Amino acid sequence: MSILLTTLNARYTHASLGLRYLLANMGELQEQTRLQEFVIGAKTTEIVERILAYSPRIVGFGIYIWNVEESTKVIAMLKRVAPHVIVVLGGPEVSYESNEQEIVKISDYLITGWGDVTFPKLCGEILNGPKPLMKTHAGVQPPMADIKLPYSLYTDDDIKNRTLYVEASRGCPFKCEFCLSALDKTAWPFALDAFLAEMESLHARGARLFKFVDRTFNLNIKTSLKIMQFFLDKLEANPDDPVYAHFELVPDHLPDALKEGISKFPHGALQFEIGIQSFNPAVQTLVSRKQDNQKAADNIRWLTEQSHAHMHVDLIAGLPGETVESFAEGFNKLWALNPHEIQFGILKRLRGTPIIRHTQEYGLVFDPYAPYTILANRDIDFATMQRLVRFARYWDLVANSGRFTNTLPVLLGDTAFEHFMAFSDWLYANTDATHRIALERLVAMVGKYLHVRGMDKLDAEALLASDYAGPKTKAVETPAPKRQARRLAA
Ligand code: SF4
Repeated sequence: MSILLTTLNARYTHASLGLRYLLANMGELQEQTRLQEFVIGAKTTEIVERILAYSPRIVGFGIYIWNVEESTKVIAMLKRVAPHVIVVLGGPEVSYESNEQEIVKISDYLITGWGDVTFPKLCGEILNGPKPLMKTHAGVQPPMADIKLPYSLYTDDDIKNRTLYVEASRGCPFKCEFCLSALDKTAWPFALDAFLAEMESLHARGARLFKFVDRTFNLNIKTSLKIMQFFLDKLEANPDDPVYAHFELVPDHLPDALKEGISKFPHGALQFEIGIQSFNPAVQTLVSRKQDNQKAADNIRWLTEQSHAHMHVDLIAGLPGETVESFAEGFNKLWALNPHEIQFGILKRLRGTPIIRHTQEYGLVFDPYAPYTILANRDIDFATMQRLVRFARYWDLVANSGRFTNTLPVLLGDTAFEHFMAFSDWLYANTDATHRIALERLVAMVGKYLHVRGMDKLDAEALLASDYAGPKTKAVETPAPKRQARRLAA
């Protein structure tokens, strides 16, 4: 065996689409190529041992923000115990500002950008000569029709137990400066019929959960409608064995035809991830994010009121020019629109993103280690940023978990951000923990807090008990079928 493709996924349930693309496009080298995935947190020695068990001549590593630290250790050990093994890197984390990276220094070759064509070509040269002269190879972007689709490489085990990532297009035409996709400048669709034929065969093999990684699913409405119709047909034909689809939407582009399609989906069949990021027009202009806030708000309201889609809406704290007060305003505005989940993210400086042009003026200070989270800026000092980080963590535990649906409105009162921030500060002061808070303890702490805030102890307990007793929660209003719900929680 000559070539091993590998990566460290964030979780076992995440099956790497990138590696499968590479394997699908290996051409005549495919027979001598294997794929082996690992999960972050595994022992470095065990990973190296398992890699070497394949006796590979080349190991291709997929490097992402979540695995760069551990992959660096794996490669350092691999090169010590088996210096003859050639290491080729690829992936978004090593595609920009690569020269300064330790992982690049200790590896043999690097492919930046798209690897579908360049990886097999480089492997061929390494194996058969002439030996490549350059260490870094800019990935060639072929016509989309030349890229072999990888979906048949999802194994039966993947289909049964893991999230299946699929993409009908790559890239994004927008230019939000904090996002790596801003560098694409456009989106490139795959041939739709060929793509849907692959979805058909995945479905026939038992796949029921399809997670689209397209950055903007609703860019081309004709395409979106055709993809949605594919799922509607499946739902109609197999109502007792439904499919579930996850898409990322831009919030201010929901024409009537799309709304009509969306409204046909029953409960538990559709999930949208919607990026708002900031409702502050000045911040949006600063980071080159084009968004019609009124349309975005109207569309989110329409989705919550008129569709059965489960909605997960993203906000980012720490953007240049965003104060705590303006972020709070946006948060409260979003909370009033009633999405099922608010994903409260903290700004990260992804390698290659243009957000750093604001570093001086807005005093942006980022953690030098992955995931490069912002630590402070001109408007939010380090201590306050840490309060926001804890808010985000506790928000996941209390609000997004769907376990406190009856209690949450009481906890949040009429100003969600301010009340939850007060709760977050109190919880941290009284537990000194942001992780590993067992549910029972969390429930007890919420009850204690409500009592501290003046609520009768028995009333607080009764309120929490009503959540425990199987409330109709925001998170389960649109339950996915059990098997899917389990996978969605991945
Ligand atoms: S944040 Fe979304 S819309 Fe903006 S560039 Fe990234 S993927 Fe595109």
